[in-house]
Amino acid sequence: MPDCIFCKIANHEIPSTIVYEDDKVIAFDDLNPQAPVHTLVVPKAHYENIIDGVPGDVLEAMAHAVGEVARAKGLEAGFRVITNTGAAAGQTVMHLHWHVLGGRDLGEGLV
Ligand code: 5GP
Ligand code: ZN
Repeated sequence: MPDCIFCKIANHEIPSTIVYEDDKVIAFDDLNPQAPVHTLVVPKAHYENIIDGVPGDVLEAMAHAVGEVARAKGLEAGFRVITNTGAAAGQTVMHLHWHVLGGRDLGEGLV
């Protein structure tokens, strides 16, 4: 997708702080972190969101990347994975991404 910022990050056309990368997924730190650790797990192929017919192997690669991020960032105490889906949920970048949040006690607000 030519004008998609996460496609550009996945193609290394725009710099990011990469935490993990393989052939299907890139994980990089969020530009505007909402927690001490806030990393985005993003498939390299463009899907709009989690209900955009994402193949199982891509979902598996994303789940694997979450584990790699948790290990790299020392999130043994716990962390949260969130994927906003659609504008009403606050999705602003229309390329599937999972927020991995941690590094502090996240409490019991919003799940
Ligand atoms: P959403 O609101 O779509 O669930 O999340 C989009 C996230 O992408 C936001 O947390 C925002 O800070 C992050 N973001 C937007 N543009 C960039 C960028 O160019 N680089 C990085 N690293 N994060 C970005
Ligand atoms: Zn994209």
